[in-house]
Amino acid sequence: MKSMAVGQQKFDVLIAGGGVAGAAAAAALSPLGLRILIVEPGPSHGRRLAGELIHPPGVDGLCQLGLLSNPPMAGSVVNGFAIFPAAQDDGLGSVILPYGETAGSRRCGLAIEHRSLQRHLLETARRFPGVSAWIGARVIRMEAGPDGRFTALVRGENDEARIRAGLILGADGPMSQVRKMVGISHEARRYSAMMGVEVEDTHLPRAGYGNIFLNPAGVAYAYAIGKGRARVMFEVLKGADPKESVARHLDFFPAAFRRDIETVLCRSKPLAAANYCIIPGVTVKRNVALVGDARGCCHPLTASGITASVKDAMVLRDALRETNLDVATALHRYARACARLQFARRTLAEELHEAFLAQTPEALLLKQCIFSYWRRSANGRARSMALLSTVDSGTFPMATQYAMVALQAFRLLPLWLQKKAAADWRRGMRRLTYKGLAFQYAAINQWL
Ligand SMILES: Cc1cc2nc3c(=O)[nH]c(=O)nc-3n(C[C@H](O)[C@H](O)[C@H](O)COP(=O)(O)OP(=O)(O)OC[C@H]3O[C@@H](n4cnc5c(N)ncnc54)[C@H](O)[C@@H]3O)c2cc1C
Repeated sequence: MKSMAVGQQKFDVLIAGGGVAGAAAAAALSPLGLRILIVEPGPSHGRRLAGELIHPPGVDGLCQLGLLSNPPMAGSVVNGFAIFPAAQDDGLGSVILPYGETAGSRRCGLAIEHRSLQRHLLETARRFPGVSAWIGARVIRMEAGPDGRFTALVRGENDEARIRAGLILGADGPMSQVRKMVGISHEARRYSAMMGVEVEDTHLPRAGYGNIFLNPAGVAYAYAIGKGRARVMFEVLKGADPKESVARHLDFFPAAFRRDIETVLCRSKPLAAANYCIIPGVTVKRNVALVGDARGCCHPLTASGITASVKDAMVLRDALRETNLDVATALHRYARACARLQFARRTLAEELHEAFLAQTPEALLLKQCIFSYWRRSANGRARSMALLSTVDSGTFPMATQYAMVALQAFRLLPLWLQKKAAADWRRGMRRLTYKGLAFQYAAINQWL
């Protein structure tokens, strides 16, 4: 689409960014009869690693929005997670967390190569009624009018257009420029980096599952992405040497799979990405709302970014529909709903990352409690998966689950006494109790 045509047209919604969040938002808002413009610079910069595992609610959402066929034509079915603790964490053993045990959820998710997914979603969304896309353009400035409402200046390859829209969505990813240009501050923490390669899926340890390996070098993932291919991602912790990190990760992989990965690593350069936690000060400002990673992101341990982006789109659509397209009221509702979802996502990712990777006695106790809980209780696995996959994003259920996990510490006490580590157990228990109370406090606060 040429900018001359764009400049002359009127749009109700401008979406900056045609990634998962932007495409989902366009598909969600199209049935409301709105004229929508997606502005997407296109894949000009190098490829990077990004989300590929989609939880059942995300797949459901994409199907409901008409962006994915049911069953999906591409990618690979994911039945849940297979979690492998490090070899030195003796006695923990691997655990399977299937989606199928969770009530209110379809039985499987999907894993699909990120670029194919993004391309498919954008191509499908731009064919929806009322949706246009300006590819090869980007939002370069946000100008506030006398009433405080924002207008976007968009620059294409050869020209520019000033777009006035009742609603502008910042769907431009974790480092959102729209967020910055409208003056929304954010808190950012860089956890680590991620390196990844594509290999054959023949020796994938647990076919049909998202394999998660926990070891002192960080978290590693492996899952099939369709057509006999699998993605493997390695976390590189802050300050660690990438080559050494990958070698340490590989030590924990089964021999045949490790050989497959080493062969690919010899031939090609891995893709990379940074893992950030981004918390914007607010989600909406005047006629601008943030969606997807622009609205906040966390460590990818829980693989919930795509699902959350799809949920953002649906929550926004419902809020606009319920308020008869009263943008100000709808955005207020949207911001409240997002805050709940984001709090649960972020807290889970941070707590699990710390429990799985920290080498302190309290982290070890928490890790043992989590594995003991998952192994013993089908209900526990189901509740945990409901939280991880965003079927449930309530703070109270999260606080309750934390308490249930912490109670496992009493079951583990004889083991710690045997190891003459009673003092470590007490320290761990104090920390678990403190954290449990902090969750209850946060839950009450949010409820109020
Ligand atoms: C290593 C890694 C692994 C992950 N694994 C998973 C996983 O397994 N499952 C999962 O659900 N999530 C995962 N995630 C998170 C997931 O990738 C993101 O949540 C998701 O891609 C967010 O999509 P988005 O559309 O918000 O942002 P993006 O995908 O970043 O898209 C933003 C778009 O905005 C465009 N843009 C940028 N600037 C402008 C501008 N000025 N104007 C207009 N457009 C602009 C960009 O070109 C881009 O297309 C992972 C993330 C990382 C880093």
